[in-house]
Amino acid sequence: IIMSFLMISMIFIMVPRAMVSADRVQEVLTTELSIKEPENPVTLGNESGELRFDDVSFRYGNAEEDTLSHISFTAKPGQTTAFIGATGAGKSTLINLIPRFYDVTGGAVYLNGKDIRTLSQKELRDNIGYVPQKAMLFSGTIDSNIKYGKEDADVNEVLAALDCAQATEFVSELPNGVESSIAQGGSNVSGGQKQRLAIARALVKKAPVYIFDDSFSALDFKTDAKLRRALTKYTENAVVLIVAQRVSTIMNAEQIIVLDEGKIVGKGTHKELLKTCPEYREIAESQLSKEELA
Ligand code: ADP
Repeated sequence: IIMSFLMISMIFIMVPRAMVSADRVQEVLTTELSIKEPENPVTLGNESGELRFDDVSFRYGNAEEDTLSHISFTAKPGQTTAFIGATGAGKSTLINLIPRFYDVTGGAVYLNGKDIRTLSQKELRDNIGYVPQKAMLFSGTIDSNIKYGKEDADVNEVLAALDCAQATEFVSELPNGVESSIAQGGSNVSGGQKQRLAIARALVKKAPVYIFDDSFSALDFKTDAKLRRALTKYTENAVVLIVAQRVSTIMNAEQIIVLDEGKIVGKGTHKELLKTCPEYREIAESQLSKEELA
């Protein structure tokens, strides 16, 4: 179910973004199918390990140039690693290599020291809580939507996930609480509410790796800030990866990676990057006030 959910969500992520044709959807399906399952998969082990990109390059099948080149970084457990950069810089592409929607064309991605291509896809994806850029809800109750993340989640786990995602208040105001129905495509909840439910769905997995691809963009600043604070507690020892447009969303991250045209042009904390990375400084200056910058 999770596999097909991911596949369906991939299609729906891509359709509105690029107005893609049926050909492109077919391409996504084909790509998904071309990901090879290892013959003798290794296991991940229980300890929370780091996620490491080692000299990763990536080129889409139909492209003439690499979308990502020579990407190396380590994301540590218990820390947030954030990605920022202009539209088209390659942030989503980079993130999508982790659940293996695509495979690297150069270098390797390691989780707990294991090349992710040596893990079964089920094991890999069971270990990742992923919120896609365009979150999808299905018709059904809020409870069942959250449980897409973990089928056997009990009521306390669902409530804790909703709580961290800052969804408790609006859910409890609905006539039937978590048993309230979501219309097809989530048309009866707002964009920000939809994002929070999608976040709760990922959180309920209690995974060692979380990926939030621009998942906080529809939240107001206050909710965004509260959610991130709750997230730090909830995700404890997990590797947390956040793609964001807003500097305010990521400025407290332990590590910020600045992407430009598929390359890393800066790596460090907010403070460090303001000094060392002109691309980061430019983004920060366009979004923050003088006081916030100082
Ligand atoms: P970002 O998330 O930073 O906005 P993306 O990873 O979405 O950047 O895109 C990086 C580049 O890869 C862009 O030039 C985009 O057009 C291209 N791209 C994204 N998806 C595909 C695809 N499925 N096939 C070919 N090119 C793609």
